[in-house]
Amino acid sequence: MKLDRTRFGPAGFPMGCPKEEAFDYLYKLRLGAMEYQAVRRVPTKLDSLKKIGEKAKEKDVVLTIHAPYAINLASRDEEKLTKSIERLYLSAKAAEALGANHITFHPGYYSKRDPEEALRLAIEGLDGLVRRLKDENIRVELGPETTGKPSQLGSLDEVLRMAEEVDWVFPTIDFAHIHAREGGSIKGRDSYSRILDEIERRLGSLNGLVVHFTEVELTASGRGERMHHELGSGYGPDFGPLAIEMVERDVKWLVISESPLLEEDSLKMKKIYTRTLKKTRRK
Ligand SMILES: [Zn+2]
Repeated sequence: MKLDRTRFGPAGFPMGCPKEEAFDYLYKLRLGAMEYQAVRRVPTKLDSLKKIGEKAKEKDVVLTIHAPYAINLASRDEEKLTKSIERLYLSAKAAEALGANHITFHPGYYSKRDPEEALRLAIEGLDGLVRRLKDENIRVELGPETTGKPSQLGSLDEVLRMAEEVDWVFPTIDFAHIHAREGGSIKGRDSYSRILDEIERRLGSLNGLVVHFTEVELTASGRGERMHHELGSGYGPDFGPLAIEMVERDVKWLVISESPLLEEDSLKMKKIYTRTLKKTRRK
């Protein structure tokens, strides 16, 4: 999505204030982003979404939306496939009302299909949806997220394939999920660099990325996410080296905190990023 600068914010309304005061509060904290959670169901009262969107805009908070978890673009059940697309379509309508330009969603599960076949189905589904959105003049970015479990469609390669093959698709990069599904693969700056080089090579640019960040505990098997943890918990991945890459590559990103401490860890990330920025400028 188009961004004027790198912005940080929580996944969902902040925890430190009533919902009605969310954007005043984020403004006070100097946080310029929030991901609206529609993960259980998509709200259909477009008027109230519009009001939320207006308030956010007034306080210079850029919104994205997270579509329902109940989406599987590779389901074996025809009805579930149709409903999945419908949920994404409703999320697009909601995004439009909110003034959000990016919809984050989990593409689904392999559902005992060959991974290539699952990916193909997801791409077909997204292609059809984008056509419909174009017909109806609903302009939003669809952001398949890198997912955290090996049973889920959504490796880095797969979300990049979706973006390469379908217009208006631009992935959401969840670093904790990449780390978890690859068995703890992010060990430092080199690991981030490898991921970012790949994204840049395939998409042409790193600017405008929507990024999720948290530290994450792996399952006992060592592959897949068990639960999210706050920054500095020691579980990893570490945000510090990513901040260095962000500064060195001079990117503009929307960084959403998925840590249990939401806005508190958004502030922490922003602090680390700002400190890194100052250090580099001094050189
Ligand atoms: Zn997600």
